[in-house]
Amino acid sequence: MTVATTNAARLFKGSATQGRTEAELREVVSHAGAELELAPAEVIVEWAVATFGERFCVTSSMGDAVLAHLASQVAPGIDVVFLDTGYHFAETIGTRDAVEATLPVTLTTVSPRQSVAEQDAAYGKDLFVRDPDLCCALRKVAPLEEALGEYDAWATGLRRQETHNRVITPVIGWDESKRKVKVSPLARWTHAQVEGYVAEHDVLVNPLQLDGYLSIGCWPCTRRVAPDEDPRSGRWSGTSKTECGIHT
Ligand code: SF4
Repeated sequence: MTVATTNAARLFKGSATQGRTEAELREVVSHAGAELELAPAEVIVEWAVATFGERFCVTSSMGDAVLAHLASQVAPGIDVVFLDTGYHFAETIGTRDAVEATLPVTLTTVSPRQSVAEQDAAYGKDLFVRDPDLCCALRKVAPLEEALGEYDAWATGLRRQETHNRVITPVIGWDESKRKVKVSPLARWTHAQVEGYVAEHDVLVNPLQLDGYLSIGCWPCTRRVAPDEDPRSGRWSGTSKTECGIHT
């Protein structure tokens, strides 16, 4: 994994907390999950910042900048982590660059240990065709787990309405695979709420969304969807794969 922190606007650094034990983190989840279930997204982020300080970060796939924008309004300078798989659309990289340039966040780009060329040499060309689970494990799951190493809690933009896999997404949950607190401030948001927030705050949106890509991942594994299709159906289309493994 390589890491590049490309924005030094560290305006926000919450109280430098000592890392909590796993038991303590689980205790936090057991209380906060129910208490914050109906809270507005801004309140959920405020709680996470107050609870975890600089051991809390936001992740973004740069499909849009809604969560990054919302978090930056609550805590300017907050850490935003972007995972660059090496297979992103140019528009996604451009959205990341625009987020860095326009929002008060500390943006960190995380890359897999191997470049695409190195992975091709080690595993054969186009691993995403032959074994997408392994490709995702190498290019998404492992680098993100490493990047989250020093954090106690991380935020995602997961929404219950996105897919049937996500309908039980907790607002505050325990991420068993990473052994961290997972915060999903937008879990209860509908598509209309996202669109409303984008319009109200003039939030950056990946331009591919205007070109039929309603869920945006790596270019080899993403296709356009029709207006009446499930947005997530454009991901790993034609296979049984529905998630990259980050959210399992
Ligand atoms: S989404 Fe596709 S290209 Fe990207 S890491 Fe997973 S299998 Fe590889």
